[in-house]
Amino acid sequence: MEKAEIGLIGLGTMGSNLALNIAEKGHRIAVYNRTQSRTDAFVANSGPLRDKVVPCASLSELAAAIRPPRPIIIMVLAGKPVDEQIAALRSELAGNDIVIDAGNANFRDTMRRFKELDGSGLTFIGMGVSGGEEGARHGPSIMVGGTEESWKRVESVLTAISAKFKDEPCAAWLGSDGAGHFVKTIHNGIEYADMQMIAEIYGILRDGLGMSAKEIAPVFAGWNKGRLESYLIEITANVLAADDPKTGKPVADIILDRAGQKGTGKWSVIEAQQLGIPATAIEAAVAARVLSSLKDERLAAEKAYGKLGVTSFSGSKDALLKHLELALFAGKIAAYAQGFAVMAAASREFGWNLPMPTIARIWRAGCIIRSQMLDTMAEAFGSGRADTNLLMAPAFVTMMTEAHPSLRHVVAQAAEAGLPTPALASALGYFDAYRQGRGTSNLIQAQRDFFGAHGFERIGDKGAFHGPWGSGA
Ligand code: NDP
Repeated sequence: MEKAEIGLIGLGTMGSNLALNIAEKGHRIAVYNRTQSRTDAFVANSGPLRDKVVPCASLSELAAAIRPPRPIIIMVLAGKPVDEQIAALRSELAGNDIVIDAGNANFRDTMRRFKELDGSGLTFIGMGVSGGEEGARHGPSIMVGGTEESWKRVESVLTAISAKFKDEPCAAWLGSDGAGHFVKTIHNGIEYADMQMIAEIYGILRDGLGMSAKEIAPVFAGWNKGRLESYLIEITANVLAADDPKTGKPVADIILDRAGQKGTGKWSVIEAQQLGIPATAIEAAVAARVLSSLKDERLAAEKAYGKLGVTSFSGSKDALLKHLELALFAGKIAAYAQGFAVMAAASREFGWNLPMPTIARIWRAGCIIRSQMLDTMAEAFGSGRADTNLLMAPAFVTMMTEAHPSLRHVVAQAAEAGLPTPALASALGYFDAYRQGRGTSNLIQAQRDFFGAHGFERIGDKGAFHGPWGSGA
């Protein structure tokens, strides 16, 4: 039988769609899944692509079915299952074969796996994939970490299966070892912030203006035609317009207000903190998901404190809708600025030399946070005008100057009404603190010196100084 060009382990949601995508681009693919029935179902549903698929019942069958040097994609649950698959594969593979972990790995695990495989002869790639089920099937955004030489060996197949933005593939090599998985993690952190801010605006429309899901849907659909144009705004409009077949009610109204998480949001916050970079909107979004899970406690607290935030927004509705659109726009810019700042710090820390314009470019299509704004970000990073912070690129100074008064207005009104806007408020706090030439940590320096003799810097003087606190300090 003709050998396959590539192999894939793990035929779950992502793996099965990625395998079909690869087969559709003309590459013969060998597939294996731990549970055989899933492989059988995959083959039965592969339709016209059946002759491009080689089903395998074991890892040794898989290895034998691929032409060496073999590229094998692992698309199983992140963590221990990946280590188990790599361990099992090692005896089946020979030098020069390439193992690609395409799941949502923690980049620190990826770095460890690079070290463990060093000297084994095998080449390892840590690859972030974004776009969900649909993206995996028809074109995801692909973020690759590993050696440049290993990227060159898989570049043609990865660019072929990736999303395209105006014919440009949304797949790129971003740096050595954990670079691809780190960038994917921050992608997800930004995604958390983006989704949370959209949900906060939805909350204001629902609870501040008393609008129904059916009334809110066209608002988001309209925004999707303007500066907020993005996949997440588009699906928000679609979700809000959908009816539940069982009750006839809007689907959004019958879904429990408790959101889960798998880990990438939390990892982005942990890494931001480790690197000493403020990522307040992402932090607020992760915390908001945790708070959302405390449903029983929230119900009890509502009983104790009373219900807040019902139709207390004043002024013209049209004017408020304009403010909400601009507030979301400003909040989103701040969240991206934070995400890119975390990546810049990680790039320095781990010596990756992450190409920011390329990252913005490969996020323009295929991935969950794809948006019109990323094209402008790619330009800003490409021109070198966003090197310190995205907020300092002239195009973004102009946009924020126009939009931040609306963010302020919305956060202030929401606070008055008792409607929670943690991510939007954090984005605003970050923006205001970032642009405040003289802040307030002179007082913090003084306090630290008072209780701990930590010393402080004086304006216009070099060295460390102490205050006249006296012996009682
Ligand atoms: P699914 O739950 O749909 O599938 C999980 C797959 O992992 C199955 O093939 C399962 O095999 C396999 N698996 C689980 N545990 C083991 C194990 N111990 N040994 C061998 N195989 C195992 O997951 P997804 O396809 O959604 O996710 C796969 C990866 O892709 C994850 O890392 C996820 O975070 C990432 N990802 C997911 C996205 C999404 O939108 N769903 C988007 C981007 C990345 P079996 O059939 O035997 O259980």
